[in-house]
Amino acid sequence: MCSIKQNLEQVTRQIDSAAQKCGRDASGVQLLAVSKTKPIDAIADAVAAGHRQFGENYVQEGVEKILHFREQSTPLEWHFIGPIQSNKTRPVAEHFDWVHSVDRSKVARRLSEQRPNDMPPLQVLIQINTSGESSKSGTQFEDVKALADEIDQLPNLELRGLMCIPQPEDDHDSQLAAFAPLSQLFEEMKASRPRFDTLSMGMSGDMDAAIASGSTMVRIGTAIFGARDYTNRQ
Ligand SMILES: *Cc1c(COP(=O)(O)O)cnc(C)c1O
Repeated sequence: MCSIKQNLEQVTRQIDSAAQKCGRDASGVQLLAVSKTKPIDAIADAVAAGHRQFGENYVQEGVEKILHFREQSTPLEWHFIGPIQSNKTRPVAEHFDWVHSVDRSKVARRLSEQRPNDMPPLQVLIQINTSGESSKSGTQFEDVKALADEIDQLPNLELRGLMCIPQPEDDHDSQLAAFAPLSQLFEEMKASRPRFDTLSMGMSGDMDAAIASGSTMVRIGTAIFGARDYTNRQ
């Protein structure tokens, strides 16, 4: 049995037990396999193990992988989770199924304009900056609702929820504290939006706390594919 398959099983068990601990149904937590920097072969191993949802951070690398697997006609779901530059929205709009990192109206408008009409609406999340000054990406809390109202008016985007990448913290309580404001905002916004059902939070190091805080989608790279090697990237 290959190790990516074992890792997927291990992560799935961890999701199950984290959900059980806080009285949630594990079927309410989806697993996004974050395959950035990893080769096609690693993704193919995960596909062979039955996995279908993948997250990528870099536009060109992601598009190459999407095209590769499209040729293989394996139906996969691709999520763009990296920072978005407004001059790189077109390939994202033309190839991905989801975008987790929408954080300003210019990017939202361009994604909607550039989404091909023969594709379903792009499923989007608003990325929130939960760590204040220390991170450049993400909308500030006070601006989220205005951006959500704007996205609601865009014909080719469907707003599905919120996403965050908190500062890495080692202890469970600090992780819970970092997720709390976003879960609260999510619950509040969900009340008036029927398709608002996705709270994307939790990575390899903080997924238990994310699940305890109400995450509906954890984004897991290292625990599935192993450590990343960035030495060939500039
Ligand atoms: C890389 C990345 C992940 C996965 O992180 P791991 O710690 O490897 O699980 C999740 N979300 C985003 C936005 C990422 O960039």
